[in-house]
Amino acid sequence: MPNQAANNSANRNVTLVLFHNDLRVADNATLLKASEMSTDGKLLLVYASLLTDILDDKDAYRYEAMGQARQQFLHESLADLNASLIQRGNRLLYFQKDDEALDVFTQLSDLIAQQQVTDICISQKADYNQNKVYDLLQAKYPEIQWHIQTTSTLFDELPLESLPKSFTQFRKQIETDYDLLHAEKDIAISPTPETLAPLPDNMQSRNEYFFEYQLSNQAGRDKPSQQPSSFRGGELNGLKHLDAYFDSDAPSTYKTTRNALDEWAHSTKFSGWLANGSLSVNMILNRLRRYERDMIANDSTYWIWFELLWREYFYWYAVTHQQKLFWFKGIAQHAPSTQLIESLLAQWKNGTTQYPIVNACMNQLRTTGYISNRGRQLVASCFIHELGLDWRYGATYFEQHLIDYDVASNWGNWQYLAGVGADPRGCRQFNLDKQTQQYDPNGEFIRQWQGNPQKSD
Ligand SMILES: Cc1cc2nc3c(=O)[nH]c(=O)nc-3n(C[C@H](O)[C@H](O)[C@H](O)COP(=O)(O)OP(=O)(O)OC[C@H]3O[C@@H](n4cnc5c(N)ncnc54)[C@H](O)[C@@H]3O)c2cc1C
Repeated sequence: MPNQAANNSANRNVTLVLFHNDLRVADNATLLKASEMSTDGKLLLVYASLLTDILDDKDAYRYEAMGQARQQFLHESLADLNASLIQRGNRLLYFQKDDEALDVFTQLSDLIAQQQVTDICISQKADYNQNKVYDLLQAKYPEIQWHIQTTSTLFDELPLESLPKSFTQFRKQIETDYDLLHAEKDIAISPTPETLAPLPDNMQSRNEYFFEYQLSNQAGRDKPSQQPSSFRGGELNGLKHLDAYFDSDAPSTYKTTRNALDEWAHSTKFSGWLANGSLSVNMILNRLRRYERDMIANDSTYWIWFELLWREYFYWYAVTHQQKLFWFKGIAQHAPSTQLIESLLAQWKNGTTQYPIVNACMNQLRTTGYISNRGRQLVASCFIHELGLDWRYGATYFEQHLIDYDVASNWGNWQYLAGVGADPRGCRQFNLDKQTQQYDPNGEFIRQWQGNPQKSD
């Protein structure tokens, strides 16, 4: 990439926003902060793909390329964000590993140096690896001011003195001290900036940085197939789904349907938009409160809050336990007695185990990037108990494919099921026959996702 000296001396500041899991303009305290700080300056709005590749041990558990469904959902989310930023007078700059093999960290560092960036705005993260990369950047440019906002959780910081060992203790304390579901006032939403400061002058025609240009390059190389599910990425689609969900009767029966293996309305399906930040959890909670006020408040509506608290718990769990989130023995004293067996790992991934229900779920995951919570529990339990595999390889495969991949919820749930996490009962094994009878009594789900091994002649 050619070096171009920056000429920003006339500007008060050059602010750079590093988007990650905050891909929206509404209720985005990070974008708001950047827009307020840069009124007389210039603004660089950046998404740096796979920034953590710079770290040595990132691929330890066979992380291969991001699955197509996850990639497509992410690209839709970024395209929508880009459109919103263009409407406001700026645009999204996108960094990915380029053909000259410059890693993303180096490309980003070059931009920071060329543009004489004075301030960097990010959202607070539970992501240990992403935070390590931010530390590297901070060490490289100690003169830059960093501004960190909360955009993905209900609380700005852990609202308790320390994180309780179990979710139940956490929930009870939160509900006693901060019952957000029944609080008098709605949760405050950050205003959406109407306009944004422009790009630095010398960046205005640097098409090679623009998201559209980078994406068309990418699409040429590795075109994602149409995603055969109802998930469409982006803030606009997320907000439409939020409206549609709370305009329906589905919330009033959520608790009785949430364990189903399939069906769009049986659970909220907020997870993909929540995970990459196209939807804010505050806006979801406000809609839930409105539903309770205007429609009905019952066990089911309460249970949506309950599940959002699980998400919150795992976020603070990841912040508390840092790199232990990825350790084989997790936060426990002893490692499990499982191991990596390549042939069994391949069977699980390809949906060719001897367990039709597991195969069906894995086929659904590979094709759509989504499986229900019950499906995740079954395939993870099979992975750990029936196949006796090292849980970290399963978590990594989920990371590759889930459109709602979230570092805290994914690794936290896997640890929980492997008996090395926050489960006071130690270890959970699901009886796959019983679960099949209960959740797929007529075999429809297994047929739809071809869970029965194909018989060869
Ligand atoms: C092994 C395993 C891995 C998982 N990996 C992820 C992941 O990477 N990303 C992710 O968002 N969820 C993960 N989950 C949690 C859960 O399965 C999904 O959040 C849920 O299935 C998403 O569908 P939904 O939005 O319809 O959920 P709903 O049932 O409608 O729940 C509403 C919201 O609550 C949150 N939530 C629900 N259950 C959980 C839970 N057990 N842990 C944390 N948050 C929860 C989610 O944000 C979800 O969108 C995992 C669960 C397991 C067992």
